Amino acid sequence: MAFLDRTARSFLLWELVSGMALTLKYFFKPKYTINYPHEKGPISSRFRGEHALRRYPNGEERCIACKLCEAICPAQAITIEAEPREDGSRRTTRYDIDMTKCIYCGLCQEACPVDAIVEGPNFEFAAETREELFYNKDKLLANGDRWEAEIQANLTREAAYR
Ligand code: SF4
Ligand code: SF4
Repeated sequence: MAFLDRTARSFLLWELVSGMALTLKYFFKPKYTINYPHEKGPISSRFRGEHALRRYPNGEERCIACKLCEAICPAQAITIEAEPREDGSRRTTRYDIDMTKCIYCGLCQEACPVDAIVEGPNFEFAAETREELFYNKDKLLANGDRWEAEIQANLTREAAYR
């Protein structure tokens, strides 16, 4: 009986017909895929992407070199050196993140008392060499300048939960 059933299915091209029916069923439904990178899906405001160092609106760096982020980083990916400025304020002279060590836990962002170091919404920072993933202060500040509007919007959205 099973032999007859298999033979009949083969002659009637049953697998092909059922496959085409399934294709037809989904042909008119909304698409589950997007045309990346031309289209991008929504990202949560809690998304932990590429790091950035932020500035105040007057251009001054937010970071006060307290080193809390460096201390809390479980991957020991952050290296900070600091000196007092002439006006007595304390600022970093070196702020490096080894992105090859980072595990994107977000603890540096949580520890920062002035919202200086943040993980922004950018997830498109793949590199071809390891060296490109050794971020220094200039790179992190440039990221902050580039993504400030999105970062601020995300922080505002999440303010009630922090
Ligand atoms: S996200 Fe986590 S692992 Fe990465 S630099 Fe911050 S604290 Fe370190
Ligand atoms: S980024 Fe924040 S936590 Fe890290 S040293 Fe600067 S002020 Fe302190």
